[in-house]
Amino acid sequence: MCGVFGIHGHDEAANIAYLGMHALQHRGQESAGLVAVEGNKLRQQVAMGLVSDAFNRDALAKLPGTSAIGHIRYSTAGTSELRNAQPFVFEYSGGAISIAHNGNLVNATELRAELEASGSIFQTSSDTEVIVHLMAKAREPDVLGKLNAALKRVRGAYSLCLLTNDEKMIGVRDPNGFRPLVIGRLKDSYVLSSETCSFDLIEAEFIREIEPGEIVIFEKGGMTSHRIAAPAEPPTFCVFEHVYFARPDSLVNSKSVYRARERMGQKLAQEAPIDGDVVIPVPDSGVPAAIGYSKESGIPFEMGLIRSHYVGRTFIEPQDSIRHFGVRLKLSPVRSIVDGKRVIVVDDSLVRGTTSRKIVKMLRGAGAREVHLRISAPPTTHPCFYGINTPTRSELVAASHSVEEIGRYVTCDSLAYLSHEGMMTAVGTSPNGAGFCSACFTGDYPVALGTSDLVQLRRARV
Ligand code: AMP
Repeated sequence: MCGVFGIHGHDEAANIAYLGMHALQHRGQESAGLVAVEGNKLRQQVAMGLVSDAFNRDALAKLPGTSAIGHIRYSTAGTSELRNAQPFVFEYSGGAISIAHNGNLVNATELRAELEASGSIFQTSSDTEVIVHLMAKAREPDVLGKLNAALKRVRGAYSLCLLTNDEKMIGVRDPNGFRPLVIGRLKDSYVLSSETCSFDLIEAEFIREIEPGEIVIFEKGGMTSHRIAAPAEPPTFCVFEHVYFARPDSLVNSKSVYRARERMGQKLAQEAPIDGDVVIPVPDSGVPAAIGYSKESGIPFEMGLIRSHYVGRTFIEPQDSIRHFGVRLKLSPVRSIVDGKRVIVVDDSLVRGTTSRKIVKMLRGAGAREVHLRISAPPTTHPCFYGINTPTRSELVAASHSVEEIGRYVTCDSLAYLSHEGMMTAVGTSPNGAGFCSACFTGDYPVALGTSDLVQLRRARV
């Protein structure tokens, strides 16, 4: 769970990157960083917290130059501290290079041990640093060769944005294409972003996605395309980007996230109908699915829960104590909408079940006569090792409990999930889900896991 952004060949590179990162804030709130290049020199500014807290006019003024890359972080590998905030900057025999990474490498632990045994000294606990050490050791003469050699050794999910001190910007997607990465154009400059919503903000034109297994280099003469490997057959784009993670105004995998979520809600209404007086979403992420459910069922849609916009995504806070407290801080019921009503609540996913349990309690407290919970994705039974922050398998309520048991735990009158086939049809692929990773719902991991992940899975008490 991270966002990357890059701009090449623009007089106000750092300012534009700041805006582009702003639009990616939903992808992580732990740290934000920018690196800009001017006259062969890479300058870096990183800070903990939100983009708007991390950068002010003075900080941006310290980043002159015509190309810049940025990163928004939520830790999925490595601890939450400033030294792990990206983009990283490293000096090596090829010059200086900066790297921003979205995704998670599954063989980083093994590679790191190997690199350390041969003398590498790591500065961070992040999996991303492994790529740079592998590049430094590669014998190939140029940056493309070094990058290619490094990426041939890593396994897992990576959408990367790199910037060299001779002003090459590089975008990369792993052969499976787990995480999104798109190319846009802003007048004479090229832009890269995790999601198209950044392009809308800076008024850039969307050109295309970086393909799975593709390396795209942007330099003075224009843009060139190269390959790490052929795309996986089929690629496995993360379906959870559509379910929850991406912003609804983005196109991911060339499809509208909003429309995919709305269709998930429609399918859910077909698969799990229930009599009710009102359909309400768990805002914000449940809104499009609830609209779909309401349209399909003919039951009116209302905003029965109001979200405070002054707290971040509560789930995203790494500390459990804050997260528990967070639900009340974040959501409050509208009594005039739910009082005396049979309420159908639509949320996009149920992970530990703690959010839903609190919501059901809150709605009953506000007078709801019945509370029916509808989840617009299948039960989350497995953790993600490819870059979405999910708890361990033991903490996933659906790993060890049936739908009926979960319903009892969250104390709702009925609970139903969207089927896997329903979700896949909604995102526009075949019912078996070709082209997508849905390991969090199936346990079918498309890229072999590393030893530490397998140990974690085996240890799960489910
Ligand atoms: P839980 O209380 O663990 O069941 O959390 C479920 C809520 O968290 C739902 O409202 C989801 O929209 C949201 N959610 C699901 N997955 C994630 C994630 N990886 N990061 C942040 N929030 C999430």
